[in-house]
Amino acid sequence: MVKAVVGANWGDEGKGKITDTLSKEADIIVRFQGGANAGHTIVNDYGKFALHTLPSGVFYDHTTSIIGNGVALNIPVLFKEIKDIVDRGVPMPKILVSDRAQIVMPYHILFDEYEEERLAGKSFGSTKSGIAPFYSDKYAKIGFQVAELFDEEGLKEKLERVIVQKNTLLEHLYHKPLLNVDELFNTLMEYKKMVEPYVCDTSAYLYKAIKEGKNILLEGQLGSLKDPDHGIYPMVTSSSTLAAYGAIGAGIPPYEIKKIITVVKAYSSAVGAGAFVSEIFGDEADELRRRGGDGGEYGATTGRPRRMGWFDCVATKYGCRIQGTTDVAFTVLDVLGYLDEIPVCVGYEVDGEVTTDFPTTAKLEKAKPVLKTLPGWKTDIRGIKKYEELPENCRKYIEFVEEQIGFPITMVSNGPGREDIIYR
Ligand code: GDP
Repeated sequence: MVKAVVGANWGDEGKGKITDTLSKEADIIVRFQGGANAGHTIVNDYGKFALHTLPSGVFYDHTTSIIGNGVALNIPVLFKEIKDIVDRGVPMPKILVSDRAQIVMPYHILFDEYEEERLAGKSFGSTKSGIAPFYSDKYAKIGFQVAELFDEEGLKEKLERVIVQKNTLLEHLYHKPLLNVDELFNTLMEYKKMVEPYVCDTSAYLYKAIKEGKNILLEGQLGSLKDPDHGIYPMVTSSSTLAAYGAIGAGIPPYEIKKIITVVKAYSSAVGAGAFVSEIFGDEADELRRRGGDGGEYGATTGRPRRMGWFDCVATKYGCRIQGTTDVAFTVLDVLGYLDEIPVCVGYEVDGEVTTDFPTTAKLEKAKPVLKTLPGWKTDIRGIKKYEELPENCRKYIEFVEEQIGFPITMVSNGPGREDIIYR
């Protein structure tokens, strides 16, 4: 059976933790989109890890981790990540890399930096991992698939062609040093050596695995609101963050995805620019940021402080719907235990009218939050294993959110560890 683990919000919902927990029962975990721009934080018996490219299932020795064709593959980052976890005592994971995955080129990272520099104050808040230039090139059909590393003649010829265009931009738009074909070719030959042992037709591998009844997890990056089509365009990421894209980015039939586990955080956080209706500021935000996640809400890739907000029912209802949610995993609930009262955003006021439908970006910019305040539970709920044992106000919070978003909360995460999960 294939299950997808995806985010309903702006990312950082705790997908890594949920994937790691569910990986216990999984045979294969697949990354199907995105690149090394966002991170998953995972806490387990080996320690605390920030993964950017490896799927969150790499910590079990019974799992196979797949980098699907939809991923923006940064080969040196992948290999550094493998080395880092192995150096810290994790057994060498079984990894397969799609021969159709495309490669993040060194110049993608440069172009990302140069463009942010050029836009200055008007930038999108990129993590400068080369993701937007990478996907632009993929769809402009000047990207490089992993398989192309194994055709040296063709590769050199294509590099020469592509570099003409890149150098024109470097010279005239960015006024930066030009690229050299031989140097790039040599770098790619290094990449080839690193990736060669893992490359295969992962779509064919998955097809066979599905036929054999294997348990497969598709692990999404970021969340619904960062999807280029359905999110807060243009403050989105460059690849689809939706479970539906899992079929494409992994190369499997869409009807094989039987469960869509949408991860929803018990409060809101966001990184980068863009409208964030339930955002809070000042001391209130600082306290939630400091107490949030596991050791504070700071970006796993950049370390920058995340923007904080109260739970947003409007955005989450939409985020769950657009994912095609079958199950909601409600995470980081333990963090809210310090609050006397917990505000929740239950509607948006746009031009004097209140709506619970998530609007397009232009309207979103004008939306003001309609808040409802729920009583807090003022206790530490970590370590609780049964739903009935949660404090009454805590259950009321969960049930209120469930009713507002309209999708069943079947898992409640009350701590960063693998075992901190309550099934309902
Ligand atoms: P992802 O990108 O969706 O995997 O999310 P991140 O890893 O960026 O952020 C989630 C953060 O919350 C990480 O630091 C996790 O260790 C932590 N976390 C996940 N679930 C829980 C939870 O239930 N309680 C607490 N306190 N922290 C959690």
